[in-house]
Amino acid sequence: MHLTAPTSSTQFVVPDWLQECLHTRRGTSDPAVSESARADADLICRAFEFAYQLHEGQHRASGEPYIIHPVAVAGLLRDLGGGSAMIAAGFLHDVVEDTNVTAEELGDRFGEEVKLLVEGVTKLSKFNFSSKTERQAENFRRMFLAMAQDIRVIVVKLADRLHNMRTLEYLPDVKRRQIALETREIFAPLANRLGIGRFKWELEDLTFKYLEPDSYRQIQELVAEKRIDREAGLAQTVDRLKLRLDQATISYADISGRPKHLYGIYQKMQRQQKDYNEIYDVAAIRIIVNTNDECYRALAVVHDMFRPIPGRFKDYIGLPKPNRYQSLHTVVIGNTGRPLEVQIRTLAMHHIAEYGIAAHWKYKETGGSSSVQMTTTDEKFTWLRQLLDWQNDLKDAQEYLENIKDDLFDGDVYVFTPQGDVISLSRGATPVDFAYRIHTEVGNHCAGARVNERMATLDTPLKNGDIVEILTQKNSRPSLDWLNFVVTPGARNRIRQWYKRSNREENIARGREMLERELGKNGFEALLKSSQMQTTAERCNYHSVDDLLAAVGYGEITLNTAVNRLREAIKAQQPLAKLADSLSASSQELPLLPIAKVLPLQPSAKSPIIGVEGLLYHIAGCCTPVPGEAIIGVVTRSSRGISIHRQGCPNVESIPGDRLVPVSWNTADQDQGRPQTYPVDIQIQVIDRVGVLKDILSRLTDNNINVRNAQVKTFPAQTAIIDLGIDIRNHEQLERTFSQIRKLSDVLNLRRLSQVED
Ligand code: MN
Repeated sequence: MHLTAPTSSTQFVVPDWLQECLHTRRGTSDPAVSESARADADLICRAFEFAYQLHEGQHRASGEPYIIHPVAVAGLLRDLGGGSAMIAAGFLHDVVEDTNVTAEELGDRFGEEVKLLVEGVTKLSKFNFSSKTERQAENFRRMFLAMAQDIRVIVVKLADRLHNMRTLEYLPDVKRRQIALETREIFAPLANRLGIGRFKWELEDLTFKYLEPDSYRQIQELVAEKRIDREAGLAQTVDRLKLRLDQATISYADISGRPKHLYGIYQKMQRQQKDYNEIYDVAAIRIIVNTNDECYRALAVVHDMFRPIPGRFKDYIGLPKPNRYQSLHTVVIGNTGRPLEVQIRTLAMHHIAEYGIAAHWKYKETGGSSSVQMTTTDEKFTWLRQLLDWQNDLKDAQEYLENIKDDLFDGDVYVFTPQGDVISLSRGATPVDFAYRIHTEVGNHCAGARVNERMATLDTPLKNGDIVEILTQKNSRPSLDWLNFVVTPGARNRIRQWYKRSNREENIARGREMLERELGKNGFEALLKSSQMQTTAERCNYHSVDDLLAAVGYGEITLNTAVNRLREAIKAQQPLAKLADSLSASSQELPLLPIAKVLPLQPSAKSPIIGVEGLLYHIAGCCTPVPGEAIIGVVTRSSRGISIHRQGCPNVESIPGDRLVPVSWNTADQDQGRPQTYPVDIQIQVIDRVGVLKDILSRLTDNNINVRNAQVKTFPAQTAIIDLGIDIRNHEQLERTFSQIRKLSDVLNLRRLSQVED
């Protein structure tokens, strides 16, 4: 990640804690160093040395040697109280992705545990979160948690992200925003979910700095401005509190004024629509005592000294937050007559607030010696197992585990589309459930499935993190067997529906009748037997003419669409003039004939464009203006007269002013008789799936837009580019249709092919 060429010669300095570790490893004769401590130090040092070698010559975007990053990550994990395997994984977390080393090799060198942790982190880093909706973000967070069988994987990932955020300034702006956004949507909430307060706060402040730089600076300055006053006031309050707690013989471990983090202040200002000066708890006091009982006694002291604000007291000791946060919160009227927030908690609660899930492997150690003991003999166990072993109160621990399970594994399974979107399905869901979730058509034509790039049977239960790809075939049909294994009601209903609709003969007869009515009996008889009918069916993604008729019959495809496709098929085979004749002979009633567009404009005194009356003119092909868009006329030397461009067309820029003619659309003209249309070319990038073209075309026909030509190019990565020539009445019609097409889930991109940038 973030590799660049070296730009500076900054040297890497081995941090103190790592020096100590290297020292411990060497101290073979020192009786004070236990065997297990030495083994831990050895694992940590070997991981560092290996990472150092592998990242040799690589640099961070800052120009610093790359090793700075894994060392920082390992250091963060050590601060959280992570064991030697976790710290080793911190050093090695990028090597599988960024160097030639395989996970297997890591297993051989450092053991299975380190291997699994690094593998887990590597897997998580493959996900692409960019531009997901809020619901997607929540799905990602859940899946993250559900996937990492070992929660330490997520903690390593969070440490990785925290260091990357700390060094974000060296990345280009676009990248910076993307990473900051992802951090705000995925990683900060995850840190919160795991209760790791210190990671959460720092991640949030860093995203704030990069996503709303102006507000960040503003609040930073405001906070700094008032610091002196505030700190003096707080110091006075703290002294008074200490005195009173002493009198009440409450043994506090610490009382301190605490600045709130900037993003918290900002959120509060946004939420309460308030000015900075109106936000009272910019600073707060935190009282840390030794026992639960003392928390409540300290609260009584606080409420005796200062008047509490009603409704602002919260007892998170009696009712802990889901992430296990515990504290008493109250807001009182402080010394200065302004509200003051006070938090009261025990040391143990404080550790949980700061380290969350990690507190459980840290707190145990902080009781005795000051240094974190690196290992226990059961390092082989996963964190969850350790938690069980470490908890004094087994019942409590089990409850906690149940809690985590309920919270994290809420009975859903999260899988990916090949495009990287997360789909949540009920537990036990199969590829068929997945297919119907993507789209009814995908389900109905589902012929097979690849799960994690391997062929899988359609009844395979899906697992968290599976990448599922559905293979469709035009002539595939749902099978009644599917009802035996699908678990989602959506899939079940649609399979049943399909069987209802597939009363085929009836549908064919109805479709035939509908087409017949639309096309007029005479023309229809001949057309039905012609090869154009087969072509039309294929253009509509159907196998046979009967399939097309059935689809019309039960409304899978609109009559309008079928008729338009048929016209195209005819047009493609017949010279235009002949076609015009044959069509006008076959029916008098055909609305919106494409033919009208290719016939020359009828000479008329009324011009659709004001400013060119009586003159020859044509619509410029480079920017294809339509009514509703600002236009300009250019006098050309050719025999085609005045060429009408959109304002802003680059081709007009170099034209001298004396050749420009002011023109505008004659809006009155639009209302009379058959509306004039103008050709526009558009290009749509789509996910290549059965029925997507059909969906787009039906949006066009819904808006009475004729399609002159269509060309589809497919690409290996399951995408396709569709080029369409369409006839547009005005800008408003174009915009409306564009927005409808853009809403289709399979449409990735839609643009007008024009020299003017829209
Ligand atoms: Mn990294």
